Amino acid sequence: MPDKTEKESRRQIHRELQEKTKIEFEKSLPISKELFQTLFDFLDEKLEENDCDDSFKLTKQFLETNHIMNNEEIESWLQENGGFCDCEVLYNLEEKFEK
Ligand SMILES: [Zn+2]
Repeated sequence: MPDKTEKESRRQIHRELQEKTKIEFEKSLPISKELFQTLFDFLDEKLEENDCDDSFKLTKQFLETNHIMNNEEIESWLQENGGFCDCEVLYNLEEKFEK
């Protein structure tokens, strides 16, 4: 049986690792976390009215409306993180962001 201090320090290491992963993830973001939340809300709303057409049509529309220029960087980031079209961006990526 590990003693209390050992358990506590293991818990501490685990917390630090989680924190580190979170920071690394946030550092890799091509646009701010807040903008991503706005993008998810936008996609959520639009995908209720329109079916996803397997492209980044709505995502691009959002970026354009918000005058965001690094589209290519964002698209490749989305693909690296499992979002290959508008609905996948919403369903696969929203959960990576803590509310
Ligand atoms: Zn889709």
